[in-house]
Amino acid sequence: MVEPIIQIDKLDKSFGPLKVLDGLSFDVMPGEKLALIGPSGSGKTTILRILMTLETITAGHIKVCGEQLYHMQRSGHEVPADEPHLHKMRSHIGMVFQHFNLFPHKCVLDNITLAPMLTKGEVRAKAEQRAMELLEMVGLADKAKAMPAQLSGGQKQRVAIARALALKPRIMLFDEVTSALDPELVEEVLLVMKRLAAETDMTMLLVTHEMGFAHEFADRVLFFDKGRIVEQGSPDKIFRHPSHERTQSFLRKII
Ligand code: ADP
Repeated sequence: MVEPIIQIDKLDKSFGPLKVLDGLSFDVMPGEKLALIGPSGSGKTTILRILMTLETITAGHIKVCGEQLYHMQRSGHEVPADEPHLHKMRSHIGMVFQHFNLFPHKCVLDNITLAPMLTKGEVRAKAEQRAMELLEMVGLADKAKAMPAQLSGGQKQRVAIARALALKPRIMLFDEVTSALDPELVEEVLLVMKRLAAETDMTMLLVTHEMGFAHEFADRVLFFDKGRIVEQGSPDKIFRHPSHERTQSFLRKII
């Protein structure tokens, strides 16, 4: 039997008194394309950040690629893991952020080669060859020597996708990757993601307000409200026949 690549079990996350994730449990199968939708503040981004080990957890368990993301204490609680373990766990996962987060003083090629050279010890020639293949894939081979400031938002985001892919992650997380873009630049980024989804067997989690795209892209849609999954199912089920009142009213407002 195939094991889930991500297993989230009774996850709680609080920021001070604010409970953001509330007993959240779900699994993701290898290769699955998941869309996380729901109102602002429902905890979607926090889940991605926890998977990327950018946030700690308050309670619960998470396994990625069969291993605990955090260390377990005898008491059964999880505690932040040591750096070597986090480093290994992070190598399974790539993340693309809303605001690109490119290194502003490095050219496009260096933005992509930096992590493979520093964290995986790849030699420059090999890292650059792979970076050029990735730039080809996102349609930006001619921008290899450009600086981020010379690119449009859509181009920056395509570089950010290539950069995340350079580490060959098994899981890709996309956090509202088009919401900082001018409307006419959204399509070029979605096209790259569609191609990626169709051509690779990577597991992908997408937080988005682009419901049309979520419908096309996802195998499964999770609707969140107040740190819990209210409803989940195929895109057709969630977008055409949502059964929960909260899902219905959210979709009425957004579509
Ligand atoms: P979503 O992605 O669904 O919009 P988020 O996961 O970004 O929701 O945020 C969930 C809640 O957690 C929000 O109320 C947000 O203000 C709060 N939050 C997120 N990060 C922090 C933080 N670092 N410190 C305090 N509150 C935070």
